[in-house]
Amino acid sequence: MGEFDLIARYFTRPARRSPLGVGDDCALLAPAPGMQVAVSSDMLVEGRHFLSTVDPARLGHKALAVNLSDLAACGARPLAFTLALSLPSVDESWLAGFARGLFALADAHGCELVGGDTTRGPLNICITVFGEVPAGAALLRSGARPGDDVWVSGTLGDARLALEVFRGRLALPPALMQLARDRMELPTPRVALGLALRGIATAAVDLSDGLAGDLGHILRASGVGATLDADAAADRLAGARHPDHAALPPQGAARHALALAGGDDYELAFCAPPAARAAVEQAGRDAGTAVARIGRIEAEPGLRLVDASGAPLAAQAFASFDHFA
Ligand code: ADP
Ligand code: MG
Repeated sequence: MGEFDLIARYFTRPARRSPLGVGDDCALLAPAPGMQVAVSSDMLVEGRHFLSTVDPARLGHKALAVNLSDLAACGARPLAFTLALSLPSVDESWLAGFARGLFALADAHGCELVGGDTTRGPLNICITVFGEVPAGAALLRSGARPGDDVWVSGTLGDARLALEVFRGRLALPPALMQLARDRMELPTPRVALGLALRGIATAAVDLSDGLAGDLGHILRASGVGATLDADAAADRLAGARHPDHAALPPQGAARHALALAGGDDYELAFCAPPAARAAVEQAGRDAGTAVARIGRIEAEPGLRLVDASGAPLAAQAFASFDHFA
């Protein structure tokens, strides 16, 4: 099977929302009047972002999910995406599975594949997503103000638990591992929550490298600092509510590390003034996503951690995941 047959067979579907999709030199998008286009790219490299043994349908899901998560963090509505794919060989059962997982998530978000590139090489997947947001309404990293609450969506740290098991550093009972593995391989981009937070949140970021590091991006962009309740963050571990939770690393530093520096969560961290608490909780209910208040923005720069009793903890240990560190 040649390159063009492969594209036609697995990655060409009639464009419905876009004026022009796969097949010409460019695709064409038509954002509604008064809208800005939000654009983001994320690349997944075998051995670095995923294991060669991962189910291709799950990989297709995750490749798009991590990109939709960036749109969510901006409060943008997904429109379309492009897919640049480097493949070592044409493996049709792999391609069919990958396309199935990819399009299931794309269809759930009304986000169309409109173009891309296909080449032979080490397995590498790069998606660029396009979304739309009313001019001036995008959620940015730079809007946090002293006194704002710090919130987080969903659950934290479970993807990292699965990674630790794959690395052989931890053993978990099968049901608990399945939960952790699903969080790692099938992240849920919080698109509906991002949309519901427009006009409410002062700043937002999606969590790919760990809460402490990613919140740090908001703090620096906004010129502020924060105090976080590390116990409240650790309480977001989905595994902590599982019947087998006794098999998890013990409460305290080990769980703080999972929640604060785990990575691969694809949740949103965001800020909002205390007067907006009811509105944030309503946004969470409207989006069907749990939201939890775990800290406070302060004028003093830097990130400070406390436990549930308010006693200070050392924060330096929770640097974010860095591919070149
Ligand atoms: P060009 O030579 O102009 O770069 P290509 O020959 O690479 O174009 O691609 C032909 C068409 O197929 C283009 O419309 C391109 O966007 C699309 N395409 C290529 N690879 C993919 C892919 N993996 N998924 C979706 N569309 C793709
Ligand atoms: Mg061309």
